[in-house]
Amino acid sequence: MIRKDAATTPAELPVSSKFDSGRVPLLFEETSPGRSGVDLAGTEESAQRAREMLGQELCRADIEGFPELSEPQVVRHFLRLSQLNFGQALNFYPLGSCTMKYNPAVNDELAALSGFAGLHPLTPPHLAQGALELMARLEHALAEITGMDAVSLHPAAGAQGELAGLLMVRAAHRKQGRICSKVIIPDTAHGTNPASCALAGFRALVAKSHRRGYLEADEIRRLLDDDVAALMVTNPNTMGIFEPEIEEIAAALHERGAMLYLDGANMNALLGIAKPGQMGADIVQLNLHKTFSTPHGGGGPGAGPIAVKQHLEPFLPLPRLCNKGGKWEFVDDRPDSIGRLRAFHGNFGMLVRAYAYILALGRDGLAEVSRRAILNANYLRKRLEDLFPSASPEPSMHECVLTHELEARAGVSTLDLAKRLLDFGMHPPTIYFPLVVHGALMIEPTETESRETLDGFVEAMRQLHDEALKEPETVRTAPHELRLGRVDEVRAARRPVLRWLQAGSAL
Ligand SMILES: *Cc1c(COP(=O)(O)O)cnc(C)c1O
Repeated sequence: MIRKDAATTPAELPVSSKFDSGRVPLLFEETSPGRSGVDLAGTEESAQRAREMLGQELCRADIEGFPELSEPQVVRHFLRLSQLNFGQALNFYPLGSCTMKYNPAVNDELAALSGFAGLHPLTPPHLAQGALELMARLEHALAEITGMDAVSLHPAAGAQGELAGLLMVRAAHRKQGRICSKVIIPDTAHGTNPASCALAGFRALVAKSHRRGYLEADEIRRLLDDDVAALMVTNPNTMGIFEPEIEEIAAALHERGAMLYLDGANMNALLGIAKPGQMGADIVQLNLHKTFSTPHGGGGPGAGPIAVKQHLEPFLPLPRLCNKGGKWEFVDDRPDSIGRLRAFHGNFGMLVRAYAYILALGRDGLAEVSRRAILNANYLRKRLEDLFPSASPEPSMHECVLTHELEARAGVSTLDLAKRLLDFGMHPPTIYFPLVVHGALMIEPTETESRETLDGFVEAMRQLHDEALKEPETVRTAPHELRLGRVDEVRAARRPVLRWLQAGSAL
C-alpha cells in the first residue's frame, strides 16, 4: 500500500477508513459497556475473598474509563499492533552495534518452566536454591568468557552496567584517597558512554582516533594526568575494528593509577577468541540482549552484567550472591559496595535465557559464533566495497562501516538509502554512526543469517545504488511500500502525542 501523505494524522481520517489507513484503533475507542472476555476467577465469591485478603481500601469497584472488550477483540488488537513492527523474527536486521541475532526459541521455553517463571522475587533463598545456583553458574561462565574475576548480574542494561562500572571506579579511587573528575572517551564512542560518565559525575575527555579508525597509545598518554579516573573504550570499537594498541593503552593507564573500562557490547566478535581480562580491562559489561541472544526490548526487560578484576570485587552492586556451607544466599553487608541499582536480583528470565544459550553452544560453539559473525561482516564488506567503500582499511570484525558518495553525486542522503531499504523488506543498518564517519552505514549481519540472506542484502544495496543515480527522487521520497511514509522525527521526539483521540487538541 502506498501512502504519500504521511503527515496526515490518523485523527483526521474518516472513521470508515481507519483500517485501510493502517491505524489500529485504541482499545478505548472499541470499548462497549458490559463486554468482557472469559474470567475464570470473576465470581462474586472470589471477589469477596480478594477484598478480605487485600482490604477494602485497596479494591476498586470500578476503574474509570477502563475499556470493556471481548477476548477476540483484544487478541486482534495486539496481533495487529505486533504486525506494524519490524522485528528480527520477521526479517533481516543488520543494525550495527546492536547485534540483532536470532533469539533461539529453546531459551524461551526454558525460561517459561514454571519453577523459573513462577518464582516470586521475595521467595526466601532456601526455597530458591536452583535459581540461585543458575545465577552463580552464569556468573562463573561470564567470568570465564571475559577473563575477569567476579561478576554481578544485577544491572538491567548495558548502559546501567556502564553506570555501575563508573560508580565503582569512583568508589575505588576514593577508597585510596584519590578524587578524579575525568574519564577519557574516544571520538567513536557509543552515545551511552559519555552519558554514563555524566551520570556518574565525571567529565568526558575526548580522545581523537587515528584516521584508520583506532585509538593510539600516544593519544592516551597525551591526555593522561592525575585527574583521569579511567578510559572507557569499546573493543572492537564502533568502526568494527579491533583496537590494536589496547594492551599498551591499558599499561599506560595503570601506570598512572587510572583504570580501563571496556564496553563489552561488541563481545560478539570476541567469544572464545579473545578475553577483555587479558587485554588489561578492569571492568567490562556484557549486553545479554546482544551477545547472548536474549530479546532486545519490545517492552521486555534487559540485562547488562558487569565483570571486574579482583581489586574491584568489594565495590560490586548489592546484593551479592554467596555460597555459605553449600547453600546460596544473598549478602547485603558489604561496606564498600556501590549499593543497589534496581529492585530484587536482576531480570531473572533473561539470565535463564543467556545461560541456556551458553550451555547449548559450549566453548567451541561460542568461538564459532564469533568466527561466523566476523566472516559474515567481512563477506558483506567485500561484496559491497566497490560501491560503498569501507571507512577504514583495517580488517573488520563483527560489523563493517561503509560510506558512499551518493549525496554529492545524486543528492541522495544516507537517511534516504535507509528509508528505501525498508521497501525491500530489510531493516536499515545503523546510520550516521560512528559520528566521525561522514554518512556512515554501520552493518552488523550477525552469525545467524544465511548466505542467501546476505546475498539478498547485497543485491538490494547494489540495486539501491543504481536507483539512486538513475531515479534519485524515488529514493529521496521512500519508503513507498509501508503503511507510514516519513514521519516528522524531530516533532515526534520533542512533542510526542501519545493519545490519538486528543491529537487534534494537542497539536
Ligand atoms: C548497545 C550499546 C551500549 C548500550 O547498551 P544498552 O543495553 O542498549 O543500554 C553501549 N555501548 C555500545 C558499544 C553498544 O553497542
